Amino acid sequence: MNIITYMITVQQAQELILQNLRPLGETKTLALCDCAGYVLAQDVTSQFDFPYWDNSAMDGYAVIYEDVKDIDSPVSLKIVEEIAAGRAPGQVINPGEAARIFTGAMLPIGADTIVIQEETKRDSQNVLVLSSPSCVGDFVRKKGDYYKAEQSLLEAGHRLTPQDIPLLSVAQLSHVEVYRRPRVAIFSTGDELREPGSILKIGEIVDSNLYALSAYVQQCGCDSICLGIVPDDVDRLKDIISSALIDCDLVISTGGVSVGDYDYVARILTDLGSKILIDSVAIKPGKPLKVGSFNTGQKLYFGIPGNPVSAMVIAWRLLTPALKKLAGETKKWQSPIIVARSRSPLFSDGKRETYLCGQLEIVEGIAEFVLSRDSQSSANLIHLSQTNALAVLPIGCMSIEQGQNVQVLFVS
Ligand code: AMP
Ligand code: MG
Repeated sequence: MNIITYMITVQQAQELILQNLRPLGETKTLALCDCAGYVLAQDVTSQFDFPYWDNSAMDGYAVIYEDVKDIDSPVSLKIVEEIAAGRAPGQVINPGEAARIFTGAMLPIGADTIVIQEETKRDSQNVLVLSSPSCVGDFVRKKGDYYKAEQSLLEAGHRLTPQDIPLLSVAQLSHVEVYRRPRVAIFSTGDELREPGSILKIGEIVDSNLYALSAYVQQCGCDSICLGIVPDDVDRLKDIISSALIDCDLVISTGGVSVGDYDYVARILTDLGSKILIDSVAIKPGKPLKVGSFNTGQKLYFGIPGNPVSAMVIAWRLLTPALKKLAGETKKWQSPIIVARSRSPLFSDGKRETYLCGQLEIVEGIAEFVLSRDSQSSANLIHLSQTNALAVLPIGCMSIEQGQNVQVLFVS
């Protein structure tokens, strides 16, 4: 038996989890349109300066700044050509001349500044410039202003957002190397649990954690494999855990990890040869979390407490970094913790790191934390639904007064 039965801190738990978990590292190629949300598996470097060439940021006229600077009265310039986006300029602009130009069109040789259309008046083949541009180069997007050839654009390990996609597209990547998503098995255990839609007998409740965790795991960019409800039965639990470990990259269960007579998970993990990394964490709620490592670090098992709020607190605080590392992300594994002003008095017994559900709001530019009303019960699903942030009271901190700053874990 290699169970570590002492309670460790949340920070120690996070370190142990991350130390004992390797990124999957398996890659696949996806079309550009399909890769947002995946973790990039290649470094992306620009082959070109961008913009590719000087071009106009506005509809207007390409001019020579010296012709129109510091003018007291309108200046007339001869229009020598019209350049639409996608056309190459054909003329050189000489003093006293201008080119009609449209947004995105290439600047003609000789011109160095754009006068926007609203500051001009057209007079047949001439344009009257009514006021001076503010500087040379006004409304010109210069070649290479945004980035240069050979410059690194994105690095492997970065989770692609929709706003990264234009960068990949301009880097001429019609297909992108990404890491495959981790497959995460999830099941619930408890004799009292029934699926939604069931007719409940006395003492039974509807399983909510399976759906909460499945949704969360997907939000973290993993595929969730829902294995349903397993009764508090040692053999059934052993079977499902063994097969989930074969099919999936990480296994999560909820329920059955506390000290009750029907809490079998820790014992089964040990029977199946797991090294128990975590047996108890100084976190409230979520203390009885069990984390086991199988096949010398190849696969982790998260035995998450059954109370619905506890389950989500553990997911937000300790599962998130694991899923991100497994998926190939190389940094920012932990969800962001920020400082906010508490609009409510907050209390803890100071013995464990305490997470209190509430809402983060921005009031006149200041982040404020509002504690959910009524109880902080670990089973209160309406509070859970309203939660977008958790106040974090460290060990030893027994209260935070209204108006004081508090650390807040932002969760959605
Ligand atoms: P346990 O961790 O098995 O001791 O369960 C703690 C509490 O959470 C009990 O009240 C259970 O009924 C409840 N619970 C356990 N699993 C779930 C679940 N999947 N969905 C909703 N509640 C659950
Ligand atoms: Mg139970």
